[in-house]
Amino acid sequence: MTDHQPLRVLLLSAEVVPFAKTGGLADVAGSLPKAVRALGHDIRVAMPRYGRIDPVKFGLKGVLPAFPVPMDKQMEEAAVLQGSVASEVPVYMIENGKYYDRDGIYMYPDDAERFIFFCRSALEMLKRLDWCPDIIHCNDWHTAIVPNWLKTIYRDDPFFARTATVYTIHNLAYQGIFGYRVLEIAGIAEYGFMYHPEMADLTEVVDFMARGIAFADVINTVSERYAQEILTPEFGEKLDPLLRDRRDRLSGILNGIDYTAMNPATDKYIAQSFDINNLKKRIQNKLALQREAKLKEDAVIPLIGIISRLTDQKGFDILGDVIDHLLDLDLQFVVLGTGDPHYHEMFSRIAQAYPGKAAVFLTFNAELAQKIYAGTDMFLMPSRFEPCGLGQMIAMRYGSVPIVRATGGLADTVKDFDVRTKEGNGFSFVRYDRWALFATIVRALENYKHLDTWRRLQAKGMAEDFSWDASARKYVDLYHRALAARGKG
Ligand code: ADP
Repeated sequence: MTDHQPLRVLLLSAEVVPFAKTGGLADVAGSLPKAVRALGHDIRVAMPRYGRIDPVKFGLKGVLPAFPVPMDKQMEEAAVLQGSVASEVPVYMIENGKYYDRDGIYMYPDDAERFIFFCRSALEMLKRLDWCPDIIHCNDWHTAIVPNWLKTIYRDDPFFARTATVYTIHNLAYQGIFGYRVLEIAGIAEYGFMYHPEMADLTEVVDFMARGIAFADVINTVSERYAQEILTPEFGEKLDPLLRDRRDRLSGILNGIDYTAMNPATDKYIAQSFDINNLKKRIQNKLALQREAKLKEDAVIPLIGIISRLTDQKGFDILGDVIDHLLDLDLQFVVLGTGDPHYHEMFSRIAQAYPGKAAVFLTFNAELAQKIYAGTDMFLMPSRFEPCGLGQMIAMRYGSVPIVRATGGLADTVKDFDVRTKEGNGFSFVRYDRWALFATIVRALENYKHLDTWRRLQAKGMAEDFSWDASARKYVDLYHRALAARGKG
């Protein structure tokens, strides 16, 4: 295969925009394939057909009637429906009422079994469709068993004889750790636990993430910085010895964002469309957001937004330490997120204590998210670690200036503003520390007082190119590297 021939790629993901989303993985799975297809490759996507995905609303069509899929010592039945992303990329949806007809996407006691079934069904589906991919692109722990299978139970299967695997780590913190039983369900019990001299745990548990890393032909993560960070004990989530062993196969490719969907000039959800040439109009979005959020309507007061999963990863512990001090200043906060009950309590208290200054929405709401990106002056992501982070990129695209901790993808995308040189597109701090965070927000507030400076900062962010095009080309290179690496250990 030469570098110019079109590739056939199957991308496996537990969530895909617009069908099911809890975080950035869904955005990537929904937008990277469009960009890879635009480069002339035949990329298709597979995901489970969760109960919440309405076949009528999405115009799903049956492509394969029920067929048997080996699970443990028996057979379960899968059927396949087909939808598409932006009518360009086929999306195969694996159906099985027992596993997927539930309200949510994850957090069920049988999640290991649910995703083993999804992956096994996807492989068996390929044979029935007689569509043999050059690359199977797996994402996060839910699909990490596939590289393991291609090196074990499917090793001698002629159908997959030329198929290589790519494993993308979107977040090393979610590894999918289960007991021995899942090896039986996955049909690989005879191969037993993994062994690594520096990782004793692996001989007692099944860590899906570790298997993806150990068996994929190439591995990548979603920013160059995070690819370096995870080689260290601080960020390696106990898998750093294995990652260091595989570092010659590990690289980082920054995620893009969908420039068609994320466009302040055409966004249907926002009160007033705008672009880099008429930033003045943006103020209407701020006033509309303040109205909707029951904040005091005030064009001048700095308005800081947060849109996030509410977890420790995202830096809300250090924010909690200083948030009362911040709200003593002349500013407003709007928070949209769901997650740990502990943070729900923290933000509910803030909303009650500072009416008109702090608004809190403890829900998942894609429409409101766009209004916050378009209506806030600043966007806060003080993450303890951040593989890539999409929020800061979307914020910049919408003219909201990011305030971030310089880690992972946040360090790769946000350059700290320097008052002397006027370089930079946002504000960042390095030490994971409440006062470093506080001081950085104060620095942003000081600069906000100077309209020229602020407009320049907004324009810098809006002019950045975070589209998928460049990253999609890097993925195609990665696919070629996987084909070259295939079979070499
Ligand atoms: P992660 O994948 O760790 O959750 P990212 O920054 O990579 O973080 O991606 C988060 C994505 O999810 C962004 O598109 C963000 O706008 C969106 N998002 C997060 N929380 C919410 C929410 N409560 N409502 C709507 N969108 C949300």
